Amino acid sequence: MSTVKIHPSVDNGIKVGDENFAGGTLACHCAQDQVTVEVDAQTAHNHACGCSKCWKPKGATFSVVAVVPRDKVAVTANAQKLKVVDDKATIQRHACSGCGVHMFGRIENPEHAFHGLDFIHTELSPQTGWSAPGFAAFVSSIIETGTPPAQMAAVRARLRELGLEPYDCLSPALMDALSTQVAKLRGVLAS
Ligand SMILES: [Zn+2]
Ligand SMILES: [Zn+2]
Repeated sequence: MSTVKIHPSVDNGIKVGDENFAGGTLACHCAQDQVTVEVDAQTAHNHACGCSKCWKPKGATFSVVAVVPRDKVAVTANAQKLKVVDDKATIQRHACSGCGVHMFGRIENPEHAFHGLDFIHTELSPQTGWSAPGFAAFVSSIIETGTPPAQMAAVRARLRELGLEPYDCLSPALMDALSTQVAKLRGVLAS
């Protein structure tokens, strides 16, 4: 078994999702007055993310993040503790001001390809059956948060061993979706 650590939820192998799973509750890490978020849908595009903006648990090299329709996401307790981490960022990450956990990330730009989808971390949920991660995004970016460049070959090898194809941006399907939206906005592609 590789000693390269990716994220606690995948380091011992990836759990397959349940195709009949229909959602659950996310809770922050506060000991009391937890922020809770009800998610009434299965997640899509779950993946490991190496960017420096996504929330990740202590000691993890990558975050694990997925999307759900924003109308399926509702804050159900202690909403007053949520603060947007960076309101200039494309994804506005609503974090608990007590423990720092990001409860959901939302794109407010209606022209963005991923508008209408919220980004969530299903490890915050006690339920099992959420969709499994399927690839790794922004892999090279882990260097920015301290992974030595010399370790990158081992990290990519481990990701492939786990079945998480490593990409240095998003997966081809998601990059194509972003570019398709740009093409539509430019009028070079019929919408
Ligand atoms: Zn909290
Ligand atoms: Zn990220």
